Amino acid sequence: MTYHIITIGCQMNISDSERLAAFLEQEGFKSLPNQNKANVVVINTCGVKQGAEDRVYGLVNVIRLRNPKSIIVITGCLSERPDVQRRLKTKVDIWLKTADMATLLDRIRKIDKTKFRVELKDYLKIKPKYNSAFSAFVPIGNGCNNFCSYCVVPYARGRETYRPAKEIMAEVKTLLKKGYKEINLIAQNVNSYRDLKSGLDFADLLKMVNDLPGNFWLRFSTSHPKDMTDKLIKAIGTCQKLCEHIHLPIQSGSDEILKRMNRSYNSNRYRQLIKKIRLQNKYKKIPIAITTDIIVGFPGETKKQFKETVKLFKEISFDLAYISRYSPRYGTLSFKMKDNVSEEEKKKRDQELQLLLRKTALADNLWYQDKIIDVLVDHKDRQGIYLGKSRTFKTIKIMGSESGKDDLKVKKNNSDVKKQNNILGQIVKVKIVRVRDFGLEGLLMA
Ligand code: SAM
Ligand code: SF4
Repeated sequence: MTYHIITIGCQMNISDSERLAAFLEQEGFKSLPNQNKANVVVINTCGVKQGAEDRVYGLVNVIRLRNPKSIIVITGCLSERPDVQRRLKTKVDIWLKTADMATLLDRIRKIDKTKFRVELKDYLKIKPKYNSAFSAFVPIGNGCNNFCSYCVVPYARGRETYRPAKEIMAEVKTLLKKGYKEINLIAQNVNSYRDLKSGLDFADLLKMVNDLPGNFWLRFSTSHPKDMTDKLIKAIGTCQKLCEHIHLPIQSGSDEILKRMNRSYNSNRYRQLIKKIRLQNKYKKIPIAITTDIIVGFPGETKKQFKETVKLFKEISFDLAYISRYSPRYGTLSFKMKDNVSEEEKKKRDQELQLLLRKTALADNLWYQDKIIDVLVDHKDRQGIYLGKSRTFKTIKIMGSESGKDDLKVKKNNSDVKKQNNILGQIVKVKIVRVRDFGLEGLLMA
């Protein structure tokens, strides 16, 4: 039997797909890159915005048409939505809740009459087949208790559950033994983590991972401002392996909108948090990058309220922001509110923030000019140029080597090319020679 997994959405979905792939392979399935030829096609869905949902409808239609005999499985955010199930009733074979991953083989067997054994119950205990050989997502929990009024996640993934610290540490240690260079601790709200048995919180967990031996980088996402405690902020300042980048979604700069979003903090609390985080980071060599999520055009958002977001944007000077136009989600609290900001106005607000972001990001990036920084090389582009990420999550393009041998990718006999051939998955020193808004260019140091 062959399988193909299509993943839409966040890091949690990517990580869930890694677990599902490993689970299927343990049972003898083979991965096939072609969705039109695989026996089982799994779509790991996202329902956060309408666009992501629409992609699933398109994919299911195409796969049914081009691969009519396949078993189509829908998992992830949309798998329990009755309206989606009704719409795709005749085309989808299996609706699979993420937490019920281990039941998939039983259900395939019912359709296919093939024999599989089913043993595993808790899907987070399944050892994943990591997509990368040097950077890994390690889920520390699943679900959300916050019920922000616009968001489907608490309905799609259920209430928060967390993995025991012992289990997380064992997974991280195995990865480090294999030579992984980057560990990303992930959950919908990492900083509400609790190990129920030992009482350890997220700051404790962070320190435990940070204290493991080895030359690796540590990251986490996503954090909620309400759970950003002083203890955690202190840990951010003291954990040396922890990268200088915090993703802290604000969603809006207007207190009235934040209240109606049910975010349980106001804009001043957010400002104070950023101030404290920056202060704690001052002993580190590199300024901490702050990134965020914003929703424009939430029901009832006036121009004046939007301007409060613009003001906060300028004050914080974000390095990056994921800006979303509000998309009403069936079953959420705000679905009942009138979606009264027109699409045109949402687009305008989105563009205004994007423009502003280009300015703040460029201003932040000026710090890097002529500096030598560490870069984890993560891929090569079509022209053969290596790209990577800084500890601050900036994209760095490595244009050549500092030794002056210029454009390494074209000079095939240049010995530096050979050296560069080995840098994928390595942490290297790069001198920044050109600064842009969303990317930096540099030269590889000897
Ligand atoms: N847990 C994180 C937090 O509290 O900020 C965010 C997780 S959510 C899956 C990712 C982002 O999608 C949110 O931060 C929000 O900006 C965006 N989002 C969620 N629901 C949305 C909606 N109905 N319309 C537009 N954007 C939405
Ligand atoms: Fe959604 Fe809010 Fe939970 Fe984030 S905290 S996943 S936005 S409900």
